[in-house]
Amino acid sequence: MRDVESLLGGRSTDDDEDLELAGYEVRHVDGQGATKDYLCPDCGNLVAAGEGHVVVWPSGEADLRRHWHRHCWRLEVRRSS
Ligand SMILES: [Zn+2]
Repeated sequence: MRDVESLLGGRSTDDDEDLELAGYEVRHVDGQGATKDYLCPDCGNLVAAGEGHVVVWPSGEADLRRHWHRHCWRLEVRRSS
């Protein structure tokens, strides 16, 4: 997978940059940091403990943070930009 991504983008940090969205804070959680199950607000499916994902909240409103699948958030970023 990493090989494919580097072929497509040429940078190892592509994922991070793809997931930025103006007005939102995005924090990456790797599998080891994911210690609880969450529900993804986009697809409604489980973000399982141990699964790398992102935590997203409107800037300055950390109380509204949500845990998203990476692919779901990436689609949201694309929809919004
Ligand atoms: Zn999802």
